[in-house]
Amino acid sequence: MKIRLFKQLALAAVLVFGAPAGAQAEPIKVSASFSILGDMVKQVGGDRVEVFTFVGPNGDAHVYEPTPANAKELSESKILFINGLGLEGWMTRLEKSSGFKGTVVTASNGITPREMVEDEKTVSDPHAWQDLANGKIYVANIRNALIAADPDGKFAYEANAQNFLDGIAAMETKVKEAIARLPAERRKIITTHDAFGYFGAAYGMEFIAPEGVSTESEATAKDVAKIIRQIKAEKVPAVFLENVTDSRLLDQISKEAGAKVGGTLYSDALSPPDGPAATYLDMFRNNIEILYQALSS
Ligand SMILES: [Zn+2]
Repeated sequence: MKIRLFKQLALAAVLVFGAPAGAQAEPIKVSASFSILGDMVKQVGGDRVEVFTFVGPNGDAHVYEPTPANAKELSESKILFINGLGLEGWMTRLEKSSGFKGTVVTASNGITPREMVEDEKTVSDPHAWQDLANGKIYVANIRNALIAADPDGKFAYEANAQNFLDGIAAMETKVKEAIARLPAERRKIITTHDAFGYFGAAYGMEFIAPEGVSTESEATAKDVAKIIRQIKAEKVPAVFLENVTDSRLLDQISKEAGAKVGGTLYSDALSPPDGPAATYLDMFRNNIEILYQALSS
């Protein structure tokens, strides 16, 4: 009788607390291509996962020179999380040089890509994370990949993912409410490169950029002149800098067109941990505050 009771208690403990302590001696190692995705993987993985992030805070994920340290980290990883949609053109080389043998997970799988024509070629816009509805798809893909790689962590990954999804849903409401309070004619702004197409389509704002969907292509004098004319003709209220691009181009545009600089938006990278956009959700909180402040007054 006593033994049976003990067994039942032990079983109950396993059900309540998950696997017995010590079952996971070390966190599983995974890599993420850039800081925004790295944060998402950390949110879902919690302390069961150690995340190596290649392109760090304020870094430009379109153009990156991988380091020998990145190759070593990738070679030790069980999963490589990438955004896909053509963002990480530098990754194939890194994968080859590292001898990576794990699983590649494309976090954007299942989203509806925005396609556009640039220099007479059809390209996909990689910035899908700027729509929170897509962010939910990223989270589901990350959760499923972590469960497949580490089935013992299933309950933890599911709980962490649900927590994160609740936070994303709350942020979605916040963003929609803030934009709904802006006058319709002021929901039009300029940024350096075309990073906010998904954001604009999801939340009803128009973003215009002298550079295309990648920072690799530089704006020509003709592009710049066209944007200056457009700002004047359409009375675009503000231009916004980005944390991953040089501010000189937009400073010049704002001066010549007479539009104010509304602040710095986080487009393709988070801030350092002590900055205003250290996580995916803080990035949205910061961007919507900056947009709202500049466009409501
Ligand atoms: Zn970009």
